[in-house]
Amino acid sequence: MKLDTRAMRHLTAEDWKVLAAVEQGSKNHELVPVPIIERFSRLKGGSSLVSKCISTLAKTSLIAKMKEAKYDGYRLTYGGLDYLALHTHSQKNHIYSVGTRVGVGKESDIMLVADHTGAQQILKIHRLGRISFRTVKTNRDYLKKNASGSWMYLSTLAARKEYAFLSALHQAGIPVPIPIAHSRHTIVMSLVDAPPLRQISSVPDPAALYSSLIELYLRLAKHGLIHGDYNEFNILIREDSSPTNPEEIVLTPIVIDFPQMISMEHVNAEMYFDRDINCIKIFFERRFHFKATMPGPFYKDVKKTVGKDGFERLDATLEASGITKKMAKDLEVAIRQHEEEKERNPEAFEPSDDEDEEEDEDEEDEDEEEENTNDKEGEEPSIIIGFKAAPLGTEEGMEKLRIHDKT
Ligand code: ADP
Ligand code: MG
Repeated sequence: MKLDTRAMRHLTAEDWKVLAAVEQGSKNHELVPVPIIERFSRLKGGSSLVSKCISTLAKTSLIAKMKEAKYDGYRLTYGGLDYLALHTHSQKNHIYSVGTRVGVGKESDIMLVADHTGAQQILKIHRLGRISFRTVKTNRDYLKKNASGSWMYLSTLAARKEYAFLSALHQAGIPVPIPIAHSRHTIVMSLVDAPPLRQISSVPDPAALYSSLIELYLRLAKHGLIHGDYNEFNILIREDSSPTNPEEIVLTPIVIDFPQMISMEHVNAEMYFDRDINCIKIFFERRFHFKATMPGPFYKDVKKTVGKDGFERLDATLEASGITKKMAKDLEVAIRQHEEEKERNPEAFEPSDDEDEEEDEDEEDEDEEEENTNDKEGEEPSIIIGFKAAPLGTEEGMEKLRIHDKT
């Protein structure tokens, strides 16, 4: 799903109001009836103005009409939700321009953005629920029956959860990107100028890096948390000069990607714990030919350390941020279904760049695949520690949002 911000500059204050009205109506209607859009948009110009706006928004694919619907109504598309989120970030001065995509998966788009001072940041757009809706029949049936499976709800929930944990971990001094803002299915965070471990082909001291990754994982555990996807894609490795010897390079791991994080008390905690630790072990063996001499760490030992040594428990973060048990469960089910499907049918999850027609969402499976440059599995490690990676983006590549109105 490509984010094209160009049409944003041409939307009027009225268009934004109508778009927001469709979003508001979506809370209770799968397909928002036109009279409701009119009521929520509170436009003085009446229904002719509203229909003009509807037509602009539909042409830009920000809202869509469903085929064979029983009444005249519209629903918000992913593009529409993207625009509303960007509009909010822009008005709060968190985003001024949008640049290149630095990462793409079926679950998220990672964009380089800048604020009005030119400072570069990361916008993560969650896209949960979309792929399963389109490819997995059982999921599709579940989603159709169950409003809690809708992509808008799940993606927004994933972003809320990620932002809550990002904030809590940052406050606790865990090395994570700095949280900046959150709106709907998106979060803005600091850009970490460091490659994922996946891209690193060699390090001077694999044992030291391995220890620091395990140590970081055990710190999360002491806060009561299991990352749940602790692997070479979700750990960025920053090169710092040693404070004592500037010639010497110190590698600092920075952990990202939290929608699947769970408590150490979770019923399946041990399984996720072991899976995470094994991921790191297998990666170090394959990539650096390094094998830890000590077995473990083991869940049962680590469990005893939760909340000890002055570590504040953070596993109640979700409840504190208003995410109910039911919401957490919905998200967990969706993420698990997504993982299972990915294992069963990896090709369907390869990132593609197609800008699909949203109207076809209910129809048959997507079979189009495109070449992509971000294919995670095929990506070759290229970085040898000691050589700084090139900066991610330049100002010329940034698309300004330039919004005229102040709605
Ligand atoms: P997903 O949920 O799709 O896996 P991630 O949050 O793991 O999304 O991000 C995907 C990729 O984008 C990461 O592997 C990393 O290369 C890049 N990335 C994400 N967040 C940042 C950030 N704050 N700074 C730099 N790169 C990032
Ligand atoms: Mg990731």
